[in-house]
Amino acid sequence: MAKTGPNELLASVDHYFDRAAQFARITPDLVAQVKAVNSVYRFQFPVRQRDGRIRVVSAWRVQHSHHRLPVKGGIRYSPDVNEDEVMGLAALMTYKCAVVDVPFGGAKGGVQIDPHTLDVEQLERVTRRYTAELVKKNFIGPGVDVPAPDYGTGEREMSWIADTYAALNPGSLDAFACVTGKPTSQNGIHGRREATGRGLFFAVREACSQPDDMKRLGLAVGLSDKRVIVQGLGNVGYHAAKFCREGGAVLVGIAEREGAIYSPAGLNEDEVLAHRKATGTILDFPGATNLVRANEALEAECDILIPAALENQITDENAPRIRAKIVLEGANGPTTPEGEAILLHKGILVIPDLYANAGGVTVSYFEWLKNLAHIKFGRLEKRNAQASARRMLQAVEWASGTTFTDRQRADLMPELDEETIVNSGLEETMISAYHDLLATKRRDARIPDLRTAAFINAIEKVGRAYLDLGVFP
Ligand code: GLU
Repeated sequence: MAKTGPNELLASVDHYFDRAAQFARITPDLVAQVKAVNSVYRFQFPVRQRDGRIRVVSAWRVQHSHHRLPVKGGIRYSPDVNEDEVMGLAALMTYKCAVVDVPFGGAKGGVQIDPHTLDVEQLERVTRRYTAELVKKNFIGPGVDVPAPDYGTGEREMSWIADTYAALNPGSLDAFACVTGKPTSQNGIHGRREATGRGLFFAVREACSQPDDMKRLGLAVGLSDKRVIVQGLGNVGYHAAKFCREGGAVLVGIAEREGAIYSPAGLNEDEVLAHRKATGTILDFPGATNLVRANEALEAECDILIPAALENQITDENAPRIRAKIVLEGANGPTTPEGEAILLHKGILVIPDLYANAGGVTVSYFEWLKNLAHIKFGRLEKRNAQASARRMLQAVEWASGTTFTDRQRADLMPELDEETIVNSGLEETMISAYHDLLATKRRDARIPDLRTAAFINAIEKVGRAYLDLGVFP
């Protein structure tokens, strides 16, 4: 296996793709089209710095696959972002959307800046200018390409993008569907902020409820008491840790940029964040042990390891020392092919990024639907559904001669608020996609792992979509 370096995310995605393609039930020429990166838009624009000087910012938007439109994927702000990385991440988005049946092609954006060193005004200027450049080339729009948050961006940036797009498209009815991950006050959707972390929780809960797999790993069925370590306490890692802990797991370790902490008795992510806010670091958290190297946390004793920071964290260098039984990939591309080979050899269950962290884009899809429909989920049916449930309960009371308590009555009422609908849609998506992966893995004993199964599912779905389009010249 050719060793992949830090700037070779596309090579590593392609490696996983090629391994799966041999099992895919579509023709090789179609496989080549599924793999190809369709469009790369690289551009540079000037931004005035605080000191008055002009700085040239490099930026990208990559559209990997147009088999379905719009294409979809986040925008990354990082000083290290590069074209290869954005291409690899765009390709992953295509496969991710296919795995969870989100009807979009894949895309990704990158802006080569360090958001921590810019003030809010500069960030706004960069974001609005980036958006305007995308508008000029028709690389953004509700039916064309719909960005979202990624590493280094969040709701605030998405609202600037929506506002810039709306200003440049006056009168456009669907302008707000040009980007997802917006604040709820700005046409966003409840549950999007937590969605990736919540999706990770649903994924690992489903994995832990498979008796055969748990037996093979020497673990009890269920998430209860499983020891979790999370790398990265950003939006994804924080929520994954929170939902896993609330679901019965014990959060024993947290790694961040400044270092890592470990406590077999269990940590609370909110308390650790409060400590970080007060002291500037997660280190020296009362009752926890400091780990000297930040990445030492990846190697500490646990059942579930959640890399939720950046790519290339689990490599052939540290994989031999990883003691987790399950690796739940919160980040995109956290495991290199060489690292993965070692994990699989050790019998570790890897729940791959293109499935595990697909909760974010799934709820982005719901947000886009909401924006196009111009109505909140549940608004039309809520009152009617509750009235018919009330009539049904009364009928049961009359027929049985019993009376429900207020608590029972409340429990039996359908909950049709937006967040409940979104979360249940996400839960259904993650559970059924997991079973699709298991079914594909079972179809051939040579399919080695869930990542290969996920890529097979994606390749077949995207390939068939291309055929349905019938657009080949
Ligand atoms: N950036 C996220 C991802 O990598 C979300 C993408 C989206 O919601 O479009 O999946």
